This record gives sequence, C-alpha cells and structure tokens, in this order.
Amino acid sequence: MIFEPDFETLPREAMRALQGDRLRALVGYVHDRVPAYRERLRRSGVSASDIASIDDITRLPITRKSDLRDHYPFGLLAVARGEVRRVHVSSGTTGKPTVVAYTAGDVDLFARVNARSLAMAGAEPGMMLHNAYGYGLFTGGLGIHYGGERLGLNVVPVSGGMTERQMTLITDFRPEVITCTPSYALTLATEFLKRGIGPDEISLRFAVLGAEPWTDGMRAQIDAALGVKSVNIYGLSEIIGPGVSCECVEGRDGSHIMEDHFFPEILDSESGEPLGDGEEGVLVLTTLTKEALPLLRYWTGDITSLTRAPCPCGRTLARMRLIKGRTDDMLIIRGVNVYPSQIESVLARVPELSPHYRIVVRRDGTLDGICVHAEVSDAFFREVGRAVLSQEVVESDHRLRDLRERLAMLLRDIIGIAMAVELLPPGEAPRSEGGKLNRVTDSRR
Ligand code: ADP
Ligand code: ZN
Repeated sequence: MIFEPDFETLPREAMRALQGDRLRALVGYVHDRVPAYRERLRRSGVSASDIASIDDITRLPITRKSDLRDHYPFGLLAVARGEVRRVHVSSGTTGKPTVVAYTAGDVDLFARVNARSLAMAGAEPGMMLHNAYGYGLFTGGLGIHYGGERLGLNVVPVSGGMTERQMTLITDFRPEVITCTPSYALTLATEFLKRGIGPDEISLRFAVLGAEPWTDGMRAQIDAALGVKSVNIYGLSEIIGPGVSCECVEGRDGSHIMEDHFFPEILDSESGEPLGDGEEGVLVLTTLTKEALPLLRYWTGDITSLTRAPCPCGRTLARMRLIKGRTDDMLIIRGVNVYPSQIESVLARVPELSPHYRIVVRRDGTLDGICVHAEVSDAFFREVGRAVLSQEVVESDHRLRDLRERLAMLLRDIIGIAMAVELLPPGEAPRSEGGKLNRVTDSRR
C-alpha cells in the first residue's frame, strides 16, 4: 500500500516543480529567520528570487555538522523557543552530540514519513509492530512509534536491549512487523536459532532495519533465520531521524527518498562537485519543508549513489543504494580507501563463517595494517572439534589454515590490499545489545 500516493507517485516534472517552489520558499524563510544563514546567503550572493528551479540548489552554501556544533544548542533555530514541541539528541557516533528541534508541524511530518516508510516495507493497518529501536533522546524509537500509529499499526514500544524479554514478546504477541538495527536483528535471529525456533514458527513477516550500515549478505541471513522480508530504512537526526528514505518490499533495491521533503544530491567527497545518477559520492540533503531546524545542503558524510529508474512498486521517488559507510568511518590503509561494509560483504561469501566480526587497525612500524577477526560458524566449529582457535591450532589444522588463507586471498583480491586474518570461535565477536554496533578498533587514533 502507498501511504501518500499523491506525493509518492508524482511524475518527475511535477516533482521538480514542487521541489523548486519549496526551495525558493525555504531560501526566503531561512534568510528571514536564521541569522547564520542570512550571512551565508549574503556572502554567496543568492536570494530567494534567484531560485528559478530546483537546479539552482547548487548555488547555495553547504551546511556541515560543525555548523550545528558551533551554534549548539539552539542557535540555528528558525522559530521562537516557545514554538518548539520536541527536541532530540543524536547518538554522537562521531564526537559531540547534536541537538535537533521540531515544531508541531515537524513532528507531524516525522510521523508521516515514517508511516510512508512502514507502508513501503509491507506493513498494513491493523498489523502489530514490535519496535525495538531505542526510545528516548535518539530519534529512532519515537520516530518509528508515531509513524506506526499514523499508519494504523498496533505499536509495541519495546525499545532496545533485554533480548530475553524481546523473544517472549515476539513469541506471545505474534507481531507481523519488527523495527530495529540490522545487527540487533541478527542477535535476535541467533537467539531464536539457539532455542531451535525456526522461521516458520516466528510470526514476523516484515523487518524495517537501519541506523547503521549493513549489506545484502547480512540481509539474506536475517531473512532466512527470522522468516522475514527485510528492508532498509535510512535517516539522520539533523534531517529528521528515520524516514528520510526506505526500501519498498516489492523492489528491495534502493531506498525511496521522501524527496518532496528532503532533496538529495550526490557530491564528490573531495571536490564537492555534483555527481550524476549511478555515481558514488556523499549524500547531501536539503530539508524543503522543515520549520524549526531547516538545513540547506546538509553534508551527511554518508556514501551512496542515486537512481531515478522506475521501480516495480509504482513509486516515482528517487532511490539511494545501501550506504557504503560514512566518510568518517572510511579507513585509509596504505593509501587505499576501505569501508567496513566492504569487508563484511566478503565475509558473507564464506559459508564457514558467522556474520559476526571485528576489524582491528594498527600501525606496524610505519605501515598501517588491518587485521580481520572473523568468527567461524557453530557448525564449522563443531566439525573441526577444537576447543580454542589459537595461532598454533590454526597452523596445525589444515581445514582452519585453508579457511584463513582462502579468506585472506578473497579480501586481497576483492578489496585490493593484503589484510591479516584471525579466526575466532563462535560468540567472540561483538554483538548488538540493542543499538548501533561498533565493529572497528582503530589503535592509530
Ligand atoms: P549519529 O550517529 O551521527 O549521532 P544519528 O543517530 O542521527 O546520528 O545517525 C545518523 C547516521 O546513522 C547516518 O548519517 C548514517 O551514517 C547512519 N545510518 C542511519 N541509517 C542508516 C542505514 N540504513 N544504513 C547505513 N547507515 C545508516
Ligand atoms: Zn519501490
């Protein structure tokens, strides 16, 4: 079902016209209400009357996370403090937390884009939603919660963590839809597997997963273990929270961006030059309709590409590929750019491994090196029949040695640099306990 067909299936030209009108209004709005933007626009020599179409967006200044920090906490607000109905604080994956604010209109928009997202994912009014995103200061829990209610779902506000209780609630309440991070979906999948509860016995049908990068390899594992069709949901607090984009269950090939509200551009990560459809670069988003904290050309740091090709679901909204990583979690190893998600997709090709891993970066002498700690699967571990997987054990057992060498070769061939590999017994790599999971230790920092 399409929640807002009038906007989600708008022909391209009509969408562009709407975006152009909204951008023109936005430029006037921030000029009149946000001193920092008035100053920026003055320096760029652009005013609302210069915006003839959405293409003129490239004339506007870029906004960065540091701008939000410089005006911490409320310096970029476009409305009086009394008009703010809610604030959220981002998790601060990278540095100091960021404060974002919503008017009543923004809160309403937040609910609508999440209702759209859940409908894209396959949810229908009357279904039950197990919402395992964290509630509280983060945008995830409440964003999905109100979106679910708006769509007409029965929302169970579980929040993250306490895996035992989550399993009981899923088993007893029999929800059709689950929302959480992909790493936490994997944690739940593993726990069900451990108890011998198969996908046919689990009531879930649709999973809406996001807040951190993941891969199609992980998707296949989650779908098989939970018996769901999982889709990607993307967002960031600065723009609104979850619901900036979401995959449709029909296509599952790129997330539809709510581009009537959040205009996407892809820019080259170094030169800042605009890139075309299919070209990979940094996603930059402009909030076309937000009231409390409107942002011009916000540099998300997230690496992806866009397509405007038709989608089997009938929506015309542009789509973005799964996020490869963000510029600040890109590892530069001996001059080569490596994203953790690239390593993850190589691991997913090796059947003897579990989906869990850790990446350790260190400087050996003057050279940077990566060591991938890959966890073997339960089945393979049993088959090998060793209690530990120390260096000596791996050296002395040809199955383990083969596996380690095969993985090292695959990593080198696919990613382009040599990496050390260590094998871990099941259960040793970090697991998600509800929120975002950090799998990288960089001892150079
Ligand atoms: P932060 O983590 O910066 O404190 P947020 O909690 O708002 O702020 O998280 C937003 C970031 O999370 C995005 O910029 C992106 O890097 C990551 N993210 C969110 N959803 C996804 C997704 N579906 N795939 C990959 N990364 C995602
Ligand atoms: Zn679609």
